[in-house]
Amino acid sequence: MASIPKTMSGILIEENGGVEALKWKTDIAVPELKDGEILVRNEYVGVNYIDTYFRTGLYKAPLPLITGKEAAGIIAAVHPSVTATFPALKEGAPVGYVADHAYAEYTAVPAEKAQALPEGVSTETAAASLLQGLTALTFVREAAGLARPGHPESQGKLGVSEGPWALVHAAAGGVGSLLVQLLVAHGARVIGTAGSAEKVEIAKANGAQWVVDSRNEDVVKRVKEITGGNGVDVIFDGVGKATFEGDLESIARKGTLVVFGNASGPVPPVDVLRLGAKNIKLMRPVLFGYIATQEERNSYTAELFELIQAGKVNLKIHDVYPLKDVARAHSDLEGRKTTGKVLLKV
Ligand code: NDP
Repeated sequence: MASIPKTMSGILIEENGGVEALKWKTDIAVPELKDGEILVRNEYVGVNYIDTYFRTGLYKAPLPLITGKEAAGIIAAVHPSVTATFPALKEGAPVGYVADHAYAEYTAVPAEKAQALPEGVSTETAAASLLQGLTALTFVREAAGLARPGHPESQGKLGVSEGPWALVHAAAGGVGSLLVQLLVAHGARVIGTAGSAEKVEIAKANGAQWVVDSRNEDVVKRVKEITGGNGVDVIFDGVGKATFEGDLESIARKGTLVVFGNASGPVPPVDVLRLGAKNIKLMRPVLFGYIATQEERNSYTAELFELIQAGKVNLKIHDVYPLKDVARAHSDLEGRKTTGKVLLKV
C-alpha cells in the first residue's frame, strides 16, 4: 500500500466571498475513510461554474469548506466495506468521480459516486468530461426528452416530427459546447449564442448551424429570423438572469425552456401565468437528480465515455491551472474569458 501522508495541500474556503476566499493551505488533514468510501489521490480537478456559487455563498455549505465537485486520480485506499459491492474500485486503479471536496490532494469519495476508468480514458479526460458531459447528456435525454440517435422514438417528447429547433446559450462554454455537439447528434437544428467573435467560431466548430454574438446582436430578433418567426422548440439556458426574459420571447408555442444555471445571476421568481401565453414547459433541472441511482450513473457515464472514445464528442480544454492558482481559474471563468473546460492539476 502506498504511504498516505497525514496532511495535504488543498484549497479551503473559510468565509464566502470573491476569489480571495480561495485559500491555499498545506496542512489540511487527509480525510479518514468511513464506511463505503474510497480515498482518491486527485490528479486533475474539473472547475465548474457551481464552484463559484459555493465560493460566493449563493449555494450554501458548512464552512470551512473544501469545494470542487469533480476530479479524477488514483485510488489510494479502499474501505473494507467497499470491496464486495464495488470490486473494480481497487487500490492503484484510475478513477473519476462527481462528488464533493475535490479541491485537494486527497478526497474521500463515496464508492457509488466513483467510476473506475476504462482503458483509453485518462484521468485528464475524465476530469474534463464527467460533470459537464453528464449534464449535457442527461439534459438532452431527460429534460428535452430527445431519444438516442437512431432510436425509433427519436422525435422525443418535444412533439416535433424531426429537426427540433434548439437554442443553446454560452455555446462555446463548458456545458454549452457539449450540449451543441449532442443536440446536433440528436438531429436538432441548433442556434448557439456566444459572447465574442472568437467564441462564435468555437460554437460553430462545435456544430451549431447558426451562432448569434450575444454581445453585439439582438438574440431574440435573430432567433425569430432564423426560425422564420416560429421560435425554438427547446432552450438550454445556463446564463440565467440576463437571458430569461429573452427566452420567453424566443421560445416557440409548446416549447421547453430548460433553465439550469446562474452565470449572470439567478432568475428572479417567475409568475407561472406567463407560461400560458405559449403553453411553455419550464424546467429547472439539476444533474444529480438524473444520476441518483447506480444504474443511471453507470449507464450515462458508460455512454459518455463511449461517445468520447468514438470521437463523437470532442472535449476542448481551455487551460490547465495549478491547483494553487484556482483563484485565477475562477476569475477567468466568471470573467467570460474561458471556452470549453477549465482544469486544475494537483
Ligand atoms: P461556462 O463555461 O459555460 O461559463 C459560463 C459562460 O456563461 C461564460 O463563458 C459566458 O459565455 C456566459 N455568460 C453570459 N453572461 C455571463 C455573465 N454575466 N457572467 C459570467 N458568464 C456569463 O460554465 P459551465 O459550463 O461550468 O456552466 C454553465 C452553466 O451551467 C452555469 O450556469 C452552471 O451553473 C450550469 N450548470 C448547471 C448544472 C445543473 O445541474 N443544473 C450542472 C452543470 C452546470 P459567453 O461569453 O459566450 O456568453
